[in-house]
Amino acid sequence: MAELFYDDDADLSIIQGRKVAVIGYGSQGHAHALSLRDSGVDVRVGLHEGSKSKAKAEEQGLRVVTPAQAAEEADVIMILIPDPIQAQVYEESVKDNLKDGDALFFAHGFNVRFGFIKAPAGVDVALVAPKGPGHLVRRQYEEGRGVPAIAAVEQDATGSAFALALSYAKAIGGTRAGVIKTTFTEETETDLFGEQAVLCGGASALVKAGFETLVEAGYQPEIAYFECLHELKLIVDLMYEGGLEKMRWSVSETAEWGDYITGPRVITDQTKAEMKKVLAEIQDGTFAKNWMDEYHGGLKKYNEYKTQDSEHLLETTGKELRKLMSWVDNEEA
Ligand code: NDP
Ligand code: MG
Ligand code: MG
Repeated sequence: MAELFYDDDADLSIIQGRKVAVIGYGSQGHAHALSLRDSGVDVRVGLHEGSKSKAKAEEQGLRVVTPAQAAEEADVIMILIPDPIQAQVYEESVKDNLKDGDALFFAHGFNVRFGFIKAPAGVDVALVAPKGPGHLVRRQYEEGRGVPAIAAVEQDATGSAFALALSYAKAIGGTRAGVIKTTFTEETETDLFGEQAVLCGGASALVKAGFETLVEAGYQPEIAYFECLHELKLIVDLMYEGGLEKMRWSVSETAEWGDYITGPRVITDQTKAEMKKVLAEIQDGTFAKNWMDEYHGGLKKYNEYKTQDSEHLLETTGKELRKLMSWVDNEEA
């Protein structure tokens, strides 16, 4: 069973006694910085020259300095910028400002797990990752609640890195809901696998294949869109609230029967064998290497895939149909 930690297991005074730098002020960055400050922690935000989010951070009462100055002043440095640029910012602005006893924090283990960032031996390396988007993390904190988080230690130079991570998690509301102990390896590999095989990749491919099957059989794209994409939300909401059981309780007996007999015909042993290959490529670093090559090579294929899918009939149909849905926030992304 997973080890869980709550408010009573965490000592807020540890992080209150440190100086924290939050590098980045995006989804996670703003939530961490504001909630740390409201928890009585000495926090500064590190942002690059010309940063778009600088004005917002200052408006919200935070002190903004360069990433290098933030890392220099602080003894806990939380890296909350996009994963593909973390190694470069680390090399340029953070590395030389780390002293023995400092702590380097992350909200995702990607760069440490795959060796793109290697902290000096005297520095604690830990992870505190809320299991939700930054805006929910902040809103829950302000409402006196919290989003569950996971925490891990990769390098325990001081011998108290986990207590520091729990203290940090408490300051952003994580221990109010519960913090699960994990490792950088488990967090990184399961996160990548989940988003690729199930949440983003698996779900998009399933929706597209279902939509194409109906349209190719002569059904109207608008009807196919409702059946294969729109209604997915209702199903996922039910699963989220009560697992597969609640979903099956809510749908008709006919739908439930179809679920049992057709699901395994669509997601087959062959699919699972491919999932195992996907996982193996994540574990051996192939995915990470290829993705970094793609990113730093100018995102050519990435942009091709993006354009291809944006022109797919599923997407053009959805764009028109969502205009009929006054309750859907259908502002262009
Ligand atoms: P964002 O994409 O929202 O971060 C953007 C921020 O980084 C902006 O403030 C941006 O500034 C700043 N930034 C960009 N380049 C630099 C630079 N060179 N130097 C300093 N700041 C820079 O990131 P997320 O919050 O999505 O992700 C941060 C980390 O949290 C990642 O490791 C991610 O995996 C992890 N995570 C994210 C979750 C989420 O909900 N998004 C959930 C759990 C973990 P500007 O305004 O100028 O663009
Ligand atoms: Mg992810
Ligand atoms: Mg139906």
